[in-house]
Amino acid sequence: MDYWRKPLDIDKYEITHGAIHIIIDRCKGCNFCIEFCPKKVLEVSNEFNVKGYHPPMVADQAGCVACKLCELICPEFAIYVTEDKHMAISKKEPHED
Ligand code: SF4
Ligand code: SF4
Repeated sequence: MDYWRKPLDIDKYEITHGAIHIIIDRCKGCNFCIEFCPKKVLEVSNEFNVKGYHPPMVADQAGCVACKLCELICPEFAIYVTEDKHMAISKKEPHED
């Protein structure tokens, strides 16, 4: 949302940043998280997961405001966000050999 002027008390507030965690092998490639992220933080990756889908990847980590919409909307519980100012993390589920 763009304001027509800078709020007078803007210095009192800090923008929350999110660390995005993607459990790659749970993803079914529906792209809901990518489509609905209000900050356009996520993109489809070229990588394949074990199911043969392209999971999301973080394209703009600094843009994440930790709204957690992606976490709420994911039907596979494959993405979650913690409030953090550090780097995004992607991880694979452990597999039994
Ligand atoms: S927490 Fe919000 S801003 Fe961050 S990636 Fe998810 S939907 Fe986008
Ligand atoms: S919403 Fe979940 S299942 Fe769908 S693409 Fe995003 S991480 Fe994968």
